[in-house]
Amino acid sequence: MNQRTVARTIRHSGVALHSGRMVHLEIHPSAPNTGIRFVRTDLSPNIEIKAHPSSVFDTTLATRLGSEAASVSTVEHLMAALYGLGIDNARICVDAAEMPIVDGSAVPWLILLDEAGVEDLGVARSVRVIKKPVEVVCPHDPSRFIRIEPSKEPRITYSIEFKNNALIGSQSLTLSLTGRSFCEALSHARTFCTAEEVDFMRSRGLARGGSLENAIVVSRTQGLLNSAGLRAPDEFVRHKILDCIGDLALLGTPVSGHIIAHKAGHDLHTALAKALAEPSDAVEIKTIASGRTRTSLGRQLDFPASLAEIPQFSDLSLVTG
Ligand SMILES: [Zn+2]
Repeated sequence: MNQRTVARTIRHSGVALHSGRMVHLEIHPSAPNTGIRFVRTDLSPNIEIKAHPSSVFDTTLATRLGSEAASVSTVEHLMAALYGLGIDNARICVDAAEMPIVDGSAVPWLILLDEAGVEDLGVARSVRVIKKPVEVVCPHDPSRFIRIEPSKEPRITYSIEFKNNALIGSQSLTLSLTGRSFCEALSHARTFCTAEEVDFMRSRGLARGGSLENAIVVSRTQGLLNSAGLRAPDEFVRHKILDCIGDLALLGTPVSGHIIAHKAGHDLHTALAKALAEPSDAVEIKTIASGRTRTSLGRQLDFPASLAEIPQFSDLSLVTG
C-alpha cells in the first residue's frame, strides 16, 4: 500500500470559527515522505508548520500547531479527512492562524480532496503497530483517559458522559477504524457545544464565526437549537472519534491497535500521539508491502481510492444540500 498525495492543487475560502475571518487556503500535491505541512502565507517570510505531535502548541478549544509567533488552529477536521482518503503528503497554504470551520464536520473537506483526486506516489506507506498498551490519564480528572492496546485490526471504542445535558447524555461507540469507515460513519458528524459555552466564548471575543450552520448547539433549557436536527442520534460521540482520528493523524502513519477513550479531548488525543511518535517496545513502525500482494494490514486500513466508492457520497447534491 503506497503513500498518496492530492493529484492537483485545490483552493477553498471559508470563515474561521473563532476569529470570524474569511480564510483562504490552497492544498498542493507534495513528494513522498514529506508529510502534511501547513504554511502561513500571510507571514513574511512564510512560516512552515509540520503536522506532527511535537508541533502541538495548544489544545484548549481545538488543536493548534506551531508556536506563539506562528500557529495554525483547528486543523483536526481537515487532518481527519486527509486520513480518511489516505493522503499522507500535502502542502496546505493558509493566510490566517485558524482553518475555516466549513460545516463543522469533515464532509466538505472530503469533497474538496476528492475533487482534487488522490495520487499514488509509488512509495510504500508505513504503519504504527501497537505491541503493548499505552495509556494517558488526565492529571486533573482521572476519569478521563485514552489508551491503545494491541489488536488484530485497527479499532476504536469511545465514550462520553455529559451528566448535566440530557440530550447528549452518555454515548459510546465501537467500530473498526478504516479509511472507509471514517468516510461512511464519522465524516458527517459535526462539532458541538452548549449554549452556555457559546455565551462564554462570545464574552471572550471567540466563536465570532460560529453559527447553527457550522456547529450543533445544545441548550440546557431549550434542547437542540439546530432546527434541522441531528445527522445521527449519536452524532456527538461520532464527532469525538472524528477529532481523535484527526489528532492521531499528526503521527503521519495509520496506527494499528484498539483505541479506548473515555471523556477524552484534544489534550489527551494529542498526548497519546506524542507517546506513540517514537518507536519503542510498545510501538513498531512497519512498512506495508505494496503491489499486487496486499498485506492483511493494508487491507485492514482500507483507504478508498475516491468518494465514489462510498454509498452516501454517490450523489453529492444530497450530501451537501
Ligand atoms: Zn472537532
